Amino acid sequence: MRIAMIGTGYVGLVSGVCFSDFGHEVVCVDKHAGKIAGLQRGEVPIYEPGLEALLARNVAEGRLSFTTDLAQAVGGADAVFIAVGTPSRRGDGHADLSYVYAAAREIAQAASGPTVVVTKSTVPVGTNREVARILREARPELAFAVASNPEFLREGAALDDFMRPDRVVVGLDGPSEPARQVMAEIYRPLFLRDFPIVWTDLESAEMTKYAANAFLAAKITFINEVAALCEAVGADVKSVARGIGLDGRIGPKFLHAGPGYGGSCFPKDTSAFAQTGRDHGVALRLTEAVIAVNEATKARMVDKLAALAGGALEGRTVAVLGVTFKPNTDDMREAPSLAIVPALQARGARVRVVDPQGRREGEHLLPGVAWLDDPYAAAQGAHLVAILTEWNQFRALDLRRLASAMAEPRLADLRNIYSPDEARAAGFHAYASVGRQGFD
Ligand code: NAD
Repeated sequence: MRIAMIGTGYVGLVSGVCFSDFGHEVVCVDKHAGKIAGLQRGEVPIYEPGLEALLARNVAEGRLSFTTDLAQAVGGADAVFIAVGTPSRRGDGHADLSYVYAAAREIAQAASGPTVVVTKSTVPVGTNREVARILREARPELAFAVASNPEFLREGAALDDFMRPDRVVVGLDGPSEPARQVMAEIYRPLFLRDFPIVWTDLESAEMTKYAANAFLAAKITFINEVAALCEAVGADVKSVARGIGLDGRIGPKFLHAGPGYGGSCFPKDTSAFAQTGRDHGVALRLTEAVIAVNEATKARMVDKLAALAGGALEGRTVAVLGVTFKPNTDDMREAPSLAIVPALQARGARVRVVDPQGRREGEHLLPGVAWLDDPYAAAQGAHLVAILTEWNQFRALDLRRLASAMAEPRLADLRNIYSPDEARAAGFHAYASVGRQGFD
């Protein structure tokens, strides 16, 4: 199959590289000339484990290329994937579909024959029908088919998720749609290995992506709320999470209490989902509550840090370990650190930051912080160390060395990596985590 991938971001690049590894001929397109020039030199613009090597191999074998020329990529392609961004629209939280519709118009102009246009971007119900309408209106003489193929990969584990997915969802406009054959051919390597493919209609495919993200965000938020109660009543959220997660109906994943969810998907997708509900007169009260509780969770973390620092942050130095929204990515979009760090600064704290990959993006998002490469250097003379992201580098710290470097050895472990006993034994005077008892 010849595939054009429009949008070479986290999803477009990973999908393009993996499709080429399936044996297809893939051209990845992006408007961002610098990104494409870098990719043509073999430079991967994002941090994603394993991606650089897989990309290099498929380029070398002649199946993968990069261009800014959409028309050249689309002309002659069997399938054109739209993988552009769908950020939150300013003001109302709706998904901003302008990039998707602009891409559809460009595809319509460039197509030279019957083409299957596949939306991989996360888009609200009705978007694929609008894409179909745009295509038909622009080129009534051409046979376009549309398919909805939402992506479920996780940043940091994207290659494995794409190559070994829990499922692939494909929405089509009717069961006998010719696009079915093209989609089946594209995902053939997964078919052959018995990964489930859910064939459905366009609306159900669109809904599936939002319902999945809203559910996962609810699960995280549920345990974060339970954590707050655990702190108040003297329970340990890690035991509670294990106790409930071993129930097969609940499952152990997404039950790690922390500083609130962030990232490029959950915040904007829960918000767009709630907005779709409002648009259709169906109040999604659970999702609305999840959004509100998550905001409150981030605010609760700031109070927790201030309390641990002795009640006031004015003039205190805080060393923050980890600012990306999760480990193994450089993605800073909606990371809890973007709410927590400025709030610490607003209360008068001086903030130092260490993050293995977050600096490039974080430098302009977190003005006024000092960037360091080493946690022990960051802790030197500090009054508080706060772990915000559980990078492996922060999972096996020499706590004794960390504590002895500090002016006041206080540790806020917002990912529950360490135990109060370990912190006490290492010489910390105060320790707080999420949903467990600390000491000070
Ligand atoms: P991104 O911002 O990293 O990448 C989007 C890319 O599209 C950018 O490089 C941009 O320059 C390019 N672009 C925009 N309009 C273009 C056009 N007309 N022609 C060519 N290039 C164009 O976004 P992302 O994180 O890859 O997300 C893409 C979509 O996938 C979103 O809808 C997102 O919700 C969804 N998604 C993301 C993830 C994730 O983990 N990041 C997971 C699943 C789904």
